[in-house]
Amino acid sequence: MAGLSVIAFDADDTLWHNERFFRLSQQRFQELLAAHAEPDQLAARLLAAETRNLALYGFGIKGFTLSMIETALEITDRRIGADVIGEILDMGREMLRHPIEVFDGVGETLATLAARYPLVLITKGDLFDQERKLAQSGLGELFTAVEIVSDKTAATYGRIFGRFGGASGALMAGNSLRSDILPALAAGAHAVHIPHDLTWDYERVEDVPPSPRLHLTDDIRKIIDIIDKI
Ligand SMILES: [Mg+2]
Repeated sequence: MAGLSVIAFDADDTLWHNERFFRLSQQRFQELLAAHAEPDQLAARLLAAETRNLALYGFGIKGFTLSMIETALEITDRRIGADVIGEILDMGREMLRHPIEVFDGVGETLATLAARYPLVLITKGDLFDQERKLAQSGLGELFTAVEIVSDKTAATYGRIFGRFGGASGALMAGNSLRSDILPALAAGAHAVHIPHDLTWDYERVEDVPPSPRLHLTDDIRKIIDIIDKI
């Protein structure tokens, strides 16, 4: 075995909590619009707006906030009150200010790996927000490179891993099959899926083709054993 030359990590819901804040805001959004739509209907309309807007706003809280406003306008035939729009904007700002919570075991695992491999953080989302969260996490110095990208495709991984000797010697770890695992495998890298309890519907994938380069664990600490066996 040639071994690995670079290890990459996703950030949101891999190193720290993220989706739970979106869920809390979405609950609040459903309460605000309870008189106009059933929760399931509203959730479906919001997901449709978010997906539709990805190409314009990219991933992240700002796009989510604008999509909530758009959905509120849509389901009320543009009769939603300015006070509700104000509350939605407040929710978005609150999310952008919310302190992050790093998962157990992340600091020690990254420190162990950083002594042996260059580590790369690969995350999508709002540039300011991802930079803020990384700074707050205290993990920034463990990474050789930080890539805040607009989307995670096989080409994205190929380009980044190309700077570290190529995808065949790279490993990508993350919680999202759609963004972290499948495109990294398609680029030729190894991948470690670390599922999180909460996954945004957009990131869900029905079928994952089997691959000898795909690994699964429920605990980021176990990634060290997985890497040792590659
Ligand atoms: Mg993630």
